[in-house]
Amino acid sequence: MPFIHTHGLRYFQFDTLHTRHAVFTRHGGVSPAPWGSLNVGGTVGDDLERVRENRLLSFRALGCKPESIFDVWQVHSADVVCARAPRPAGESYRQADIILTDKPDVTLFMRFADCVPIFFYDPRKAVVGVAHAGWMGTLRDVATVTVHTMRKQYDSNPTDIIACIGPSIGPDHYEIGADVILQVIQKFGDESEQVLRSNNGKIHFDLWRTNQLLLERAGVGKIEVAGICTACHTEDWFSHRAEKGRTGRFGALISLQ
Ligand SMILES: [Zn+2]
Repeated sequence: MPFIHTHGLRYFQFDTLHTRHAVFTRHGGVSPAPWGSLNVGGTVGDDLERVRENRLLSFRALGCKPESIFDVWQVHSADVVCARAPRPAGESYRQADIILTDKPDVTLFMRFADCVPIFFYDPRKAVVGVAHAGWMGTLRDVATVTVHTMRKQYDSNPTDIIACIGPSIGPDHYEIGADVILQVIQKFGDESEQVLRSNNGKIHFDLWRTNQLLLERAGVGKIEVAGICTACHTEDWFSHRAEKGRTGRFGALISLQ
């Protein structure tokens, strides 16, 4: 059962990821519409006290200490931060879209509404990570950069790494324009056929398959894809595209403990 219900929250877990983690749905929080209800995004117009309360509820549901959090200002880059300690309260956010840690007292946390959350776990070297990959991050090789950084910083062997592609906008809902199509073709060449889909004269981009392909190329040993489309299921997930920007952000959390 990939969905867990506790403390009024409902969250998704991967079968193959045997470390503490969750992708939270929108259920169980304190925010009103259009952020109903577990919005953890602080830049979407919701009251910051409610956002804070929602984050505390999320951490409590997983049994994580709120002060163990390490989060970043997500900017659609392929920049990495290796967290050596929780982010001190009051310290400004670093801009990055990949966070890694080998410290059991650090809980990595990110925010999503259609972009792809990718969890990473190397049980042999005891390293966890989470990455944020929308179309831009995907084309900037977030998946590859994460694996390379795990090799370099933590001596991970890619075959030991488990990578999990979380709920995000699916190929059925992800129409892209000419400029993005061109970038995909430039990057993937013949393999573009695997990641672009023709749909009633429009072109759709398969972010799940693309990230899977990048992870396979990087030598990742085990890949699990949730296959849940956020735009199909706005009863569970915030979807920037399906809700035309008037929505919240759901949380994704991972730690070694
Ligand atoms: Zn869909």
